[in-house]
Amino acid sequence: METKKIHVLDRDFELSIREEEIMEKIKKVAAQLNTDYAGRQPVMVCILNGAFMFAADLVRYLDFQPEIIFARFSSYDGMDTTGEVRELLGITADVVGRDIIIVEDIVDTGITMSNILPNFQQMGASSVKVACLLQKPDKLKVDIKIDYCALQIPNDFIVGYGLDYDGFGRNYRDIYKVV
Ligand code: 5GP
Ligand code: MG
Repeated sequence: METKKIHVLDRDFELSIREEEIMEKIKKVAAQLNTDYAGRQPVMVCILNGAFMFAADLVRYLDFQPEIIFARFSSYDGMDTTGEVRELLGITADVVGRDIIIVEDIVDTGITMSNILPNFQQMGASSVKVACLLQKPDKLKVDIKIDYCALQIPNDFIVGYGLDYDGFGRNYRDIYKVV
């Protein structure tokens, strides 16, 4: 029997998006990237911690050869966005003149992404695109372009498939929403 409900710290979550659907949508994003980046070597920046699982699955469906790096930029505390964004750490690749693909777990208000994007432009990247697993379109507060998005979801707080509630719940294959 499949687990339909999980408990993470002090909250209950129910199944929202199954592994099969997540993988199907990720393959579609990979197909778009394969068309757009054929024969190129972009730098894919996996934004830790939440995007680790998405990035791991996404890159395995790519036909081109990206340089893959990991960076951290956190803005979330529990279930509420703090609105405050900290420094982007860990950009080890030379990004001057390179095509950048930012790989993010979820775009909520878009504030985090709107802070990440200018960093790459200032560092001299020739193009900067965003690939996210999930987006909550109704919560977008800033004017940013999401170039590739696997799934659009309502405003519920979700965990699983890399996404956490105070550090826990990342390990699940499916995505769960708070009850
Ligand atoms: P934004 O700056 O777009 O409001 O927030 C983006 C970040 O907030 C994401 O990278 C993610 O870490 C976190 N976040 C937003 N919504 C959720 C959610 O429903 N669940 C979890 N676990 N994290 C979220
Ligand atoms: Mg994140």
